Amino acid sequence: MMIVMKSTATEDEIQAVITRIESCGARAHPSRGEEVTVIGAVGDREHVARLGLEGAPGVQQVVPILKPYKLASSQMREPTVIEIEGRRIGGDHFSMIAGPCTVESRDQTLTTARAVAAAGASLFRGGAYKPRSSPYSFQGLGQEGLRLLAEAREETGLPVVTELMDARDLEPVLEVADVIQVGARNMQNYSLLSEIGRSGRPTLIKRGLSSTLEELLMAAEYVLKEGNPNVMLCERGIRTFETAYRFTLDLTAVPVLKELSHLPVIVDPSHAAGRRDLVTPLSLAAAAAGADGIIVEVHPEPEEAICDGPQQLYADRFGEYLERVEQAAAVAGKVLSTVPS
Ligand code: PEP
Ligand code: MN
Repeated sequence: MMIVMKSTATEDEIQAVITRIESCGARAHPSRGEEVTVIGAVGDREHVARLGLEGAPGVQQVVPILKPYKLASSQMREPTVIEIEGRRIGGDHFSMIAGPCTVESRDQTLTTARAVAAAGASLFRGGAYKPRSSPYSFQGLGQEGLRLLAEAREETGLPVVTELMDARDLEPVLEVADVIQVGARNMQNYSLLSEIGRSGRPTLIKRGLSSTLEELLMAAEYVLKEGNPNVMLCERGIRTFETAYRFTLDLTAVPVLKELSHLPVIVDPSHAAGRRDLVTPLSLAAAAAGADGIIVEVHPEPEEAICDGPQQLYADRFGEYLERVEQAAAVAGKVLSTVPS
């Protein structure tokens, strides 16, 4: 249920509603907008209905949330804008998250971080723990990779996005990650999502290879339910019957997710395409479609990359790419979120 307070509601009236919601075992999630406060009551619907909040002081109306994802629903609040070290994600802001698929060495990591920072990227990406299809493939540098990411962050000032695969690594990852990435293969790892929710750290959740948008939103709900409001959704390509490219980038998901949810929507053209030549057109299309940002792979020498070489952009050409994407984002009314504002 969603309890919409009157614009004249006092803080005491808001608190009284929260207390009553919690008294029946439900959780109250207040969202304070510029005009009105809305309180999401998540729990047993019958119990909340029996509270009879319709007539309570300061309450404008009580509206049922029909979707199974309550906190992620666009009914619940205005579009979410997440702030990370002065960079804004969501609303009128466009974020460029760029960096290598995986942290391979100090030189490769710092060279890429310097290049994307100089070009105006918003955040730096790089995996220290890698979800690989084969257990015989390189699995990431682990803690050493996190250390290199910390160094890149320190030198360039770019906030870091890195994947957490296993809740046992949460502590070291929290020391470095400004945003925790949940990989496509872990989208339905509910204990991991809940743990990240409890950590409170901003999170980017990638859509599973064969997941519906509702399943993606339910994954976000696991994080939100723990009181962590800073969740981004990421479309990264899904499995279809098409075999001409790695995955099918579902760009319809961008406007539809934005209709269904208030959470920012990021697009990953790299993993969808699997090919460098497709990354620019897909990025332009995603930006023009209204995505709140892009997460893209960049490497100083993609031919030498340990993983995902064919899809990584050349670091020394990243500036040109970013300029074009920035123009496409402007078509959708968004401005690149770069240095702290
Ligand atoms: C990645 O971003 O490096 C990655 C492995 O992505 P995904 O989980 O979407 O495959
Ligand atoms: Mn990759």
